[in-house]
Amino acid sequence: MRTLIKLLIALPLLAHPVAAQDIFQPLQDMVDELTNPPPRPPRTPAPKAPVAVAPEAPPVPRPRPPSLPDVPVVEAPAVPDAAEEAVDEQAVEEPVEPEVEAKPEVEAKPERVYQVACPAVIQGLVEAEMAPPLSEGICGEQSPLVVTGVLSKGRMVPLSSPVTTNCQMASALPDWVETVDGYAETMLESRLAQVDTGTSYMCRNRYSAENGFTSEHGFANAVDVTGFTLEDGRSIGVEGDWMPAAEPEGRLLRLAHDAACGDFMTVLGPEANAEHHDHLHLDMGCHGQSCTTRICE
Ligand SMILES: [Zn+2]
Repeated sequence: MRTLIKLLIALPLLAHPVAAQDIFQPLQDMVDELTNPPPRPPRTPAPKAPVAVAPEAPPVPRPRPPSLPDVPVVEAPAVPDAAEEAVDEQAVEEPVEPEVEAKPEVEAKPERVYQVACPAVIQGLVEAEMAPPLSEGICGEQSPLVVTGVLSKGRMVPLSSPVTTNCQMASALPDWVETVDGYAETMLESRLAQVDTGTSYMCRNRYSAENGFTSEHGFANAVDVTGFTLEDGRSIGVEGDWMPAAEPEGRLLRLAHDAACGDFMTVLGPEANAEHHDHLHLDMGCHGQSCTTRICE
């Protein structure tokens, strides 16, 4: 095989001996390459190893990744830790708030208003509605009533304005109003059309003084009556009709005052002091150790 190739190459060289060396050398190299394939393998790995490729990738990308992770790795743990702590704190605070809010709700629900019924209302002796408890410092009443009318002789006599009072006062009113109603019908030939009322519940001291005992008005235990209105339209007021005492209107007011002394524990009128020149003060206050003493002035 080699001999045949050499002959094919040598034939043209015989005709042109001068250029034989220039042509023969490259051909010889080709022949060597074709005939000696083994030595080539070492050449192929050399180009495959183009160190240029390997060094390009490692120097540029490698240093960057390590630098990037190094920074975030140090900062990342610090931030996430704080964030986690913050989240943990928030997670703890959030459940605590609802628990605190839930507690008052639970405590508010069991709060129940305990009040007592008033027999005078149940029996229809007075027209009244139960009101929420009153609480104002030392003043107050757990089961106040707003009374708007009093039964007398089979009908309800209205009050000029609703009075806020307790059951004791409400229970004492019917008998007294019916007595006054009888006096008016007998002496003035006209029944009561209305009871004119003044102050009822009011948290203050006696006579509105800065110091002293708290008035029974502060316990919804007193009612002031300023006069009466008759069915015939006449208006009889303590302020204008207490005097002269001999007149029918004056007599009615005095009978009303005296009758009250049998139904209430305290009755104060114009004869008591100047503070009561225009009304009758009625209350169920306790006087004496056994609460049996009455004050009628
Ligand atoms: Zn009074």
